[in-house]
Amino acid sequence: MTSFNEFGLAEPILRALAQEKYVTPTPIQAQTIPLACQNRDVIGIAQTGTGKTAAFALPILNHLFNKRQRPAQKSCRVLVLSPTRELSGQIADSFRAYGRHIRPLEIALAIGGVPINRQVRALARGAEVLVATPGRLLDLVHQRALRLDQIEVLVLDEADRMLDMGFIHDIKKIVAMLPKQRQTLFFSATMPQEIIRLADAMLREPARVAVTPQATTVDRIEQRVILTEKASKASLLIEVLKTEKTDRVLVFTRTKHGADKVVRGLQKAGHAAEAIHGNKSQNQRERVLAAFRNGRLRTLIATDIAARGIDVDGVSHVVNYDLPNIPESYVHRIGRTARAGAEGVAISFCDHEERAYLRDIERLIRMTIPAT
Ligand code: AMP
Repeated sequence: MTSFNEFGLAEPILRALAQEKYVTPTPIQAQTIPLACQNRDVIGIAQTGTGKTAAFALPILNHLFNKRQRPAQKSCRVLVLSPTRELSGQIADSFRAYGRHIRPLEIALAIGGVPINRQVRALARGAEVLVATPGRLLDLVHQRALRLDQIEVLVLDEADRMLDMGFIHDIKKIVAMLPKQRQTLFFSATMPQEIIRLADAMLREPARVAVTPQATTVDRIEQRVILTEKASKASLLIEVLKTEKTDRVLVFTRTKHGADKVVRGLQKAGHAAEAIHGNKSQNQRERVLAAFRNGRLRTLIATDIAARGIDVDGVSHVVNYDLPNIPESYVHRIGRTARAGAEGVAISFCDHEERAYLRDIERLIRMTIPAT
């Protein structure tokens, strides 16, 4: 598939895609869109950065455009479940961007960490699309602010992370409230046994599509490791920021405490830097992410959990200030750069105690990272 025009998507959607400067569908889009447009259930194995949001958002918008009808009060026609507030916000933004020429189109967001009342009011008149984290969605249902019996399409995004984050029971509860007659689009970066079982219970004769993110993302990233000592990492980071041609830098630490320490060190040295992690309020996180996205803030420090769902284009460098103890996290981290076809650099600081982590990572990605 060489162009979006070949999917038979409605003209207002194609116009929005042209404005987004999307020319060629990504592999997950090329595979998913035709199946989803035929109302098939789909299991998509793809991680963030592959274009999976548009892979489900475009056929859904096409369906809403072709079958226009106002949603019932306190109800929605499409439900997208995602594991984090940030990711939910980004998915809602994507629907708004691709659906900007479709009216009426109400995209509602139901996430924790912000007052529920506004969400209750937003849902009172109904929404075409609701993007939600599972806990807040259940709160809204229990408050009778939302009914789930009219849902036509369900999307479960990042199912494996939902599982990691302990949402499986909430998801099962939610699915039990949905109409049996619906379309389900299910996305996960990995397919462990428990995810396969969950998918089996939720989907009807699903088509399975997969892209291999590891190889494709990792291939475009220039990876380097700097062997160092713990005490030297702070000055090393300042050195990297000085010598590398950086645009947007995402620095990963293993702990929240570590993230704050790095911020203080950089600020002392005269570098503007901010951290996002679980101890920050939703407001703070949104403010910092917005600054990073629009380029006012060039250096962002994050922990693995906080970085879930961060979707910022133009991250030129990922710096692993600490190496992750879970090798898959390395792939997730460096996948934040080199998005949507761009090139990226990933620099990892590895102290003495982290050599074993480095070996595990190299085994996973099946390559030796050049050391300097
Ligand atoms: P996602 O995997 O959905 O988080 O998307 C990763 C990034 O790729 C997002 O910033 C999208 O805006 C961008 N993107 C998605 N599809 C395309 C496409 N077909 N052409 C160019 N950029 C895209």
